[in-house]
Amino acid sequence: MALVRNWQLGREMSYWYPEARPQRQFAAVFDINKCIACQTCTLACKTTWTSGKGQEYMLWNNVESKPYGFYPLAWDVKLLDMLGAQRWQGSRYAGRTLFEAAPAGERVLGWRPEDLDYAHPNIGEDDCAGRIDAGAALAVPHFAWFFYLARICNHCTYPACLASCPRGSIYKRPEDGIVLVDQGRCRGYRECVKACPYKKVFYNPSTGTSEKCIACYPKIEQGEQPQCFVNCIGKIRLAGFVSTPEQARPDNPIDYLVHVRKVALPLYPQLGLEPNVYYIPPVHVPLPYLEQMFGPGVSAALDTYRAAADDPDLAGLLTLFGCSHEVMPRWKRSGDTVLGLAENGRELMRVPLREPVYVRTAFDSARGVVRTNVP
Ligand code: SF4
Ligand code: SF4
Repeated sequence: MALVRNWQLGREMSYWYPEARPQRQFAAVFDINKCIACQTCTLACKTTWTSGKGQEYMLWNNVESKPYGFYPLAWDVKLLDMLGAQRWQGSRYAGRTLFEAAPAGERVLGWRPEDLDYAHPNIGEDDCAGRIDAGAALAVPHFAWFFYLARICNHCTYPACLASCPRGSIYKRPEDGIVLVDQGRCRGYRECVKACPYKKVFYNPSTGTSEKCIACYPKIEQGEQPQCFVNCIGKIRLAGFVSTPEQARPDNPIDYLVHVRKVALPLYPQLGLEPNVYYIPPVHVPLPYLEQMFGPGVSAALDTYRAAADDPDLAGLLTLFGCSHEVMPRWKRSGDTVLGLAENGRELMRVPLREPVYVRTAFDSARGVVRTNVP
């Protein structure tokens, strides 16, 4: 085991291999507040990558309703229970990671789902948590809540799938940090399926190998955002590259959201993988639930997000989500215009900070008719 730096934990931790960060790390920010669970992302991925034999049950991208939705069943709560207490001291994680809690003779604390655990991807859909007394749902604010959690592989800095593979079949590309399974080397031992806490590696019984989200790397290589990003109806997603906190650049949109404004947070950082999909937490969900899911930065992140309407830089960057099929590694705001830029400063996208509002009157005097679509 090597000692590596995990900035999400605010400390060093043990990992199977020495720290070897890629030249740049593929990353994403998902704004949970905007997801409508239309599953367009799920189908965009499904029809692109997993329509083959043995892949029927696979959803490399899935969207589940929290707190009762899971794919596969109980993927997170089961592991959190196995891991035991997860304590933070300020921004420093004081508990054990999955690598530090691995049983003797194993590399990662994990569990392998049964086939049936994948059989109900929509379980818990739209089921509320919280108090729903008779009539309480009509009170404002009401107590019941749920939210949609869109998930892909996190292309972790310290992947548990990679650490667990006895064949060395899983690798992290040095050029972009995307984590892939070498189909020629894999023998289907399924150690990765057991080790990935997010359950984003899948065994294909037809080929006898494990498969996973590839971050649409053929598109990334062409400067394009992945399928689940460009098809997202809610425009909740932004793809790019994340730096370490020390190297963060405010003109990198992912760095700005993750490191500068700290409004986007990793999913279950306490597990120790340094996942690279970051979430803007939902504003209506009880803090204790969000803190066990996204770590101790939730409260500050929500304060920042709630104030975005009076924060032209943050509001401006949020308007770039879902606006371009191209990856925009740089950005800037110029007055009332927000620009998505290429690495060399070339303009890729231009959006207004605020969309103009057009008020239509109920009576169209030019045509002498009453409009029917005006409230
Ligand atoms: S989310 Fe799972 S499959 Fe993806 S890199 Fe991390 S450990 Fe591997
Ligand atoms: S396409 Fe976008 S809005 Fe629809 S479910 Fe997926 S992430 Fe949510």
